[in-house]
Amino acid sequence: MTTINNNYLKLQGSYLFSTVAKRVAAFKESNPGKKVISLGIGDVSKPLVPAVIAAMHKAVDEMGETATFRGYGPEQGYSFLREAILKGDYLARGINLSADEIFVSDGAKSDVANFQELFSPESKVALQNPVYPVYLDTNVMAGRTGAFENGRYGGIVYLPCVEENNFAPELPQEHADIVYLCSPNNPTGSALTRAELKKWVDWALAHNSVILFDSAYEAFISDENVPHSIYEIPGAEKVAVEFRSFSKTAGFTGTRCAYTVVPKALEISDGKGGKTSLNALWLRRQTTKFNGVPYIVQRGAEAVYSPEGVEQTREVIAGYKENARVILDALKNAGITAYGGQNAPYVWLKTPAGLDSWSFFDKLLTEACVVGTPGVGFGSCGEGYFRLTAFNTPELTREAAARVAALKF
Ligand code: PLP
Repeated sequence: MTTINNNYLKLQGSYLFSTVAKRVAAFKESNPGKKVISLGIGDVSKPLVPAVIAAMHKAVDEMGETATFRGYGPEQGYSFLREAILKGDYLARGINLSADEIFVSDGAKSDVANFQELFSPESKVALQNPVYPVYLDTNVMAGRTGAFENGRYGGIVYLPCVEENNFAPELPQEHADIVYLCSPNNPTGSALTRAELKKWVDWALAHNSVILFDSAYEAFISDENVPHSIYEIPGAEKVAVEFRSFSKTAGFTGTRCAYTVVPKALEISDGKGGKTSLNALWLRRQTTKFNGVPYIVQRGAEAVYSPEGVEQTREVIAGYKENARVILDALKNAGITAYGGQNAPYVWLKTPAGLDSWSFFDKLLTEACVVGTPGVGFGSCGEGYFRLTAFNTPELTREAAARVAALKF
């Protein structure tokens, strides 16, 4: 009889968002007159900006003419978009990469999930705790972990990110071949400074390890001290892969477009005494398993880098950042300690004494009719914390914030 991949049986049910949804639905049913506001969503509320819409309309028209119609495109992405990314996100910051080190894709989620395929099944994985669950679950599926016991998978090196270390992971005491770093971070909203990131790059160089650097929230950085790209750190091109997305930067969560940078200088052991280029391997993987992002979508993403696109997306991000400020102010007024929100769309609050993540969820829902996400759902080190997002509309964010500020603890 055909047998399943047993690693899938090690996966823990994704209870977090379904439990949140169930509790909210039950509350709404027993309180039909009450207006519930969600600050739990990780999805944007603002539409695509006019520059993107105009570019996509034009591309739709091109698809209706024989002379300009496009079928399958290059798996790595059209060169017009890779060149725009190169210029806008890298050359402009003094980072020397080339367009063939950039791979356009349908999402940072799929890239960050798929990239681990290139490493041996025995590779040791380190990741932050709490964490964006995709890094962990995809390594469970690939068989790089033991069983799940006492809130942890065997074989994984967990890097606690808590108040005591300012949510910045410390270097592991044991060897790790692959390290996932997410900065600006989901869920903690913190971001690694230049000095903190340099520490990781130097460690990876010294230990022949690879950093998988997820900077899906790069556009939210305002602190001068926080690098926008890991390649701002000397030597990073030899040890790091960078994942970026148009989802939160330009509202592409439903449109789908992202990119991954795999520098040619990044080589790892072939297990036989030689070295292999990860760039060549990723190209091989993508040309086999992926058929590219729609032309219309790539034209839309290209427009994000036009002068109008830059201006319009900047305004959208500024709006979300203002929401984060409103949330942080409200929490301060309620006497709650909170982090993040400066370089990320996430505010990470410390639940007041006596309340764990889920009791805080219940109090917020029943007393303020506001929904957020219990921190423990992102990993054991998230217990006692709670995530609020800045992605709702300014009006609803203000209303929710005023209700939170009025809470008594
Ligand atoms: N990486 C992080 C850290 C995220 O929080 C998310 C989405 O929530 C993604 C990647 C997914 O990005 P995309 O929409 O490009 O798949």
